[in-house]
Amino acid sequence: MKNKVIIITGAAMGLGLATAEYLAAKGAKLSLVDYNGEALQDAVKKLKDINADVELLTIEADVSNEEAVKNYVEKTVETFGRIDGFYNNAGIEGKQAPMTEYDLAVFKKVIDINLMGVYYGMRYVIPVMQKQQYGKIVNVASVGGIRGVQNQTAYVASKHAVSGMTKNAGLEYGQDGILTNAIAPGAILTPMVEEAFKQVNPDDPKAAETEYAKRNPTRRLGVPKEVATVVSFLLSEENGYVSGQTIAIDGGESNIY
Ligand code: NAD
Repeated sequence: MKNKVIIITGAAMGLGLATAEYLAAKGAKLSLVDYNGEALQDAVKKLKDINADVELLTIEADVSNEEAVKNYVEKTVETFGRIDGFYNNAGIEGKQAPMTEYDLAVFKKVIDINLMGVYYGMRYVIPVMQKQQYGKIVNVASVGGIRGVQNQTAYVASKHAVSGMTKNAGLEYGQDGILTNAIAPGAILTPMVEEAFKQVNPDDPKAAETEYAKRNPTRRLGVPKEVATVVSFLLSEENGYVSGQTIAIDGGESNIY
């Protein structure tokens, strides 16, 4: 990954930050996008601790805003001259509720960020990669993009859409040297998942986590670095022929009937 230019959305914490840390250590040049400016600055400090020479561009942007997406893509090209890899990761869970009671404003917000944000990203990054006749894209779906998850209709709808758009990007732009894949993480311990366990059991989120871990074949949750290593492979030249796939990173959990 040395000197590869990688855009990471949702880079300030969780899975985005873990991959930024992993790629910074390998000498990649990173364009970090997040709508939480303060957390983004904290992330920069962490990355400089890992690699003092790492070249970073930080852009405060909401991925559900098309103009902001166009801008982060343009800024990245102005600064680094190209885009080798795109980790299209920013997303939210929304609030958990039965399908018929789901808050419509939250539903629309989840779709705006998780579906439209991922789409806008590809809409503006792909033309840059087409000019280069080279590029690797990793969209973030979820196990909720492979199967249903109770009380998370908006999230499941948005993540199935990410998986679908990934197949299409693979079909339409493979001829331009662009390989597009999605990852489908299971429960990986990040701030988002900690928040989900608080919703499941507000009095004892740790108990909800322990209960959840029991059903995983590995009997534990994943850690962000276990996602970063897979993302790094998919964004690298080591990946020459994997495209259009949604790859589960879930300890095998998505195969349980
Ligand atoms: P997180 O909440 O810990 O971190 C998400 C980051 O994205 C934050 O820094 C947040 O500020 C940023 N972000 C959110 N919405 C944004 C927007 N509209 N514009 C710009 N930045 C935005 O979440 P995470 O667990 O790291 O999740 C990252 C991605 O992985 C999401 O798409 C999520 O759905 C997906 N995912 C996570 C898990 C898991 O177990 N953690 C499982 C499956 C899928």
